[in-house]
Amino acid sequence: VTTTLYRNARIFTPVDNGKPAAGKNQAKITSWENGALLVKNGQIAAVGDDADVRAQTVSHPPDQEVDLGGRCVIPGFVDPHTHMCFAERREAEFEQRIAGTPYMEILARGGGILSSVRSIRAADEDALFAMTLRTVRTAMALGTTTVEIKSGYGLDTTIELKMLRVIARVAEAVPADVVPTFLGAHAIPQEFRENSDAFVDLVVSEMLPAVAEQGIARFCDVFCETGVFSIEQTRRILSAAKEVGLAVKLHADEVNDLGGAGLAAELSAVSADHLLASSPENLARMAEAGVVANLLPATAYSLRKPYARARDMIAAGVPVALATDCNPGSSYTESMPFVVGLSVMAMHLTPAEALTAATLNAAYALKLSDRVGSLDAEKQADFLVLDGESPAILAYHAGVSPVVGIFKGGKKIAGNLE
Ligand SMILES: [Zn+2]
Repeated sequence: VTTTLYRNARIFTPVDNGKPAAGKNQAKITSWENGALLVKNGQIAAVGDDADVRAQTVSHPPDQEVDLGGRCVIPGFVDPHTHMCFAERREAEFEQRIAGTPYMEILARGGGILSSVRSIRAADEDALFAMTLRTVRTAMALGTTTVEIKSGYGLDTTIELKMLRVIARVAEAVPADVVPTFLGAHAIPQEFRENSDAFVDLVVSEMLPAVAEQGIARFCDVFCETGVFSIEQTRRILSAAKEVGLAVKLHADEVNDLGGAGLAAELSAVSADHLLASSPENLARMAEAGVVANLLPATAYSLRKPYARARDMIAAGVPVALATDCNPGSSYTESMPFVVGLSVMAMHLTPAEALTAATLNAAYALKLSDRVGSLDAEKQADFLVLDGESPAILAYHAGVSPVVGIFKGGKKIAGNLE
């Protein structure tokens, strides 16, 4: 057993009341100006005012003390929506896109998600592992200590399983918590263009049983959107997923209001993600069911699209989380500091609301709130040291990561903190 006392820190953490923080609670942050964090065996043993934490160490003095120089400490970021397992970037396509070529035209030329499908199908498994590892390490260096990664560029059973194997290998290779999500229904593959129901049959009768049997996914996700999967198809896939023991989430109402937010409430999904076009009625249903809204402002930034109406969601009592949506097409960033900054500047979250969104509510969106997401005693000692006085530094110091120390389970995993 080793214990470390981190002292001389301004500590900021959301308050975990056993459910995602919604409404006014989204902005509830506990802070200590002269705070201390006592870490024992990788877990938080005590947190609070320096004198109070020290009082708990009188009979068992800590093995070591670390002076954080008055810097800011927050929980490690939880990124609850990413597509970090991809084989190739799409940099040339980005240039076409910003020059004005419509996405549908890029798709018609075999670009867009189709090029990610092609490259992942062709990729050697070790090369895919190396690429994914590199992406996850970049995220960790920016403060992400827990990350969800989806499959979904295979669109057939063999390749979806290959992606999930790679995600499992990455989980073994890094100290961060890596959460695998099966997203077989990410797009309709070319070969099923004229018969999407047949592809849904394949997802339900072949992919899902194989994924469940191998036990290599914790969640099932579906891209519910016009031209992708309908509400009926989404309901069918997610209901089947629940039957084989996977928790469910969905890409909902990104472009059109198909009622994805309402379906998320109906199915008790852990989260509904995007939500640009959701109706107030369906957002109210999400609030009632406690479904987390995963908002992805880096996608709006990258696509030059409007941002989700986060203020309306908070006013409606929907718990809001933030994620990078990291993928080679519509949002190529691993940076939670960037996402938090965007949420403050473009979606008008307060820094306190954004902190809750990027930590505690994101942990609920991955069903990991018992272990991560806030600096509460007995949770994992996952915390960040920021070169700043408060979490507002994440928005204020634009385009720069103020994260100088990244600790996972009490161990420093990245950052240049001495
Ligand atoms: Zn996504």
